[in-house]
Amino acid sequence: MKKRFERSNRLFRRAKASIPGGVNSPVRAFGAVGGAPPFIAGGSGARIRDEDGNEYVDLVCSWGPLIHGHAPDFVVEAVKAAAEKGTSFGAPTRAEVQAAELVKRAFPSMELVRFVNSGTEAVMSALRVARGFTGRDRVVKFEGCYHGHSDGLLVRAGSGALTFGVPGSPGVPPAYAGRTLTARYNDLDSVEAAFGKNAKSIAAVIVEPVAGNMGVVPPARGFLRGLRRITRECGALLVFDEVITGFRVALGGAQELYGVKPDLTCLGKIIGGGLPVGAYGGRADVMALVSPLGPVYQAGTLSGNPVATAAGLATMKRLFRGGTYEGLERAARELEEGITAAAKEAGARVTTNRVGSMQTWFFTGKRVRDYESATASDTGRYAAFFHAMLRRGVYMPPSQFEAVFVSTAHRKADVARVVRAARGAFRETV
Ligand code: PLP
Repeated sequence: MKKRFERSNRLFRRAKASIPGGVNSPVRAFGAVGGAPPFIAGGSGARIRDEDGNEYVDLVCSWGPLIHGHAPDFVVEAVKAAAEKGTSFGAPTRAEVQAAELVKRAFPSMELVRFVNSGTEAVMSALRVARGFTGRDRVVKFEGCYHGHSDGLLVRAGSGALTFGVPGSPGVPPAYAGRTLTARYNDLDSVEAAFGKNAKSIAAVIVEPVAGNMGVVPPARGFLRGLRRITRECGALLVFDEVITGFRVALGGAQELYGVKPDLTCLGKIIGGGLPVGAYGGRADVMALVSPLGPVYQAGTLSGNPVATAAGLATMKRLFRGGTYEGLERAARELEEGITAAAKEAGARVTTNRVGSMQTWFFTGKRVRDYESATASDTGRYAAFFHAMLRRGVYMPPSQFEAVFVSTAHRKADVARVVRAARGAFRETV
């Protein structure tokens, strides 16, 4: 009899001979949950299927970009039409202007916006502008937040009292990491402490306004407002990394949801509709420093690429339709309630955190409000649950510290299938 993952396993072995670890981004290798990843052959709506013909309800949605699910016809048509007209010009196009205008409509704080090719690039560029604007070079980030793999942001909290970053990867010069101070999420005291001696050298505080990269952790009441106050008092800029939350937790992202206006915003994922896009923007007086308007250099051969822009435009336009976010909220709430009930039934200790259509099921009985409480989760249990779900046709993030996403393509039947699978998976693994 053919094994369930035979073709995928063969491809994985082949991939390892040519690609480091067999994957082009590390989490895909299943290191955190063990086993080997299914290789994906295609997707449609809320479902994907692998090379062996197994079908899954997809709760990863390409890590967030696919807010309309896989291959929606309006995105596919837009991509085809753009590609037929030419895949790249390295010259300005009408679609870029439309995309910038749409982003500004959703995010009024982004008075000027520059498109780039990834979230990493967006954040890296926004911080360069923040440093150029303030003439300062330190940055405060939060433990458990991820902002892409650029040198200065790939840091861990230093041990001991706090706050100076140490390299989070070999190859990151300690001098770069040392420019980054690390504070605790949802802990304004730790931010005040970071500013303590360094107030005059801090260019910016960067934060995921709803954390997604330690699993979903919502901002505590007053946290974002507190960051706004501290940065303003100290002459630093507040940068919201809305690469995940932009167009996700609300049309205007977390800044709309919580009513806090940052100086700069970074976007990615959804604004590319599944193609490689990022963007950064904000206050006109700050963005006026960006080349060619100003002296802060930033450029890109494929930035504003017509095919990627077309996918992004088609994706964003749909989100302006009335009822979209209510529908996402409904499906996500149903999923959360179903999972919570299934866990309770089986006697599994699970804490769910959810903001709109992003959520995480932490395998802990305690409240999760920062990196420390998130990492207290039982990752072994998560791994067992993950595989039990995979066998039942549900594709979840292969790590406890990621978000589950629901798209506009997830129907009642998809949610019901996930909840049914979870009942069995909890029973099997508790
Ligand atoms: N910022 C956040 C909040 C992210 O979640 C990510 C990626 O997951 C990034 C930045 C980096 O984006 P990219 O992977 O497109 O470089």
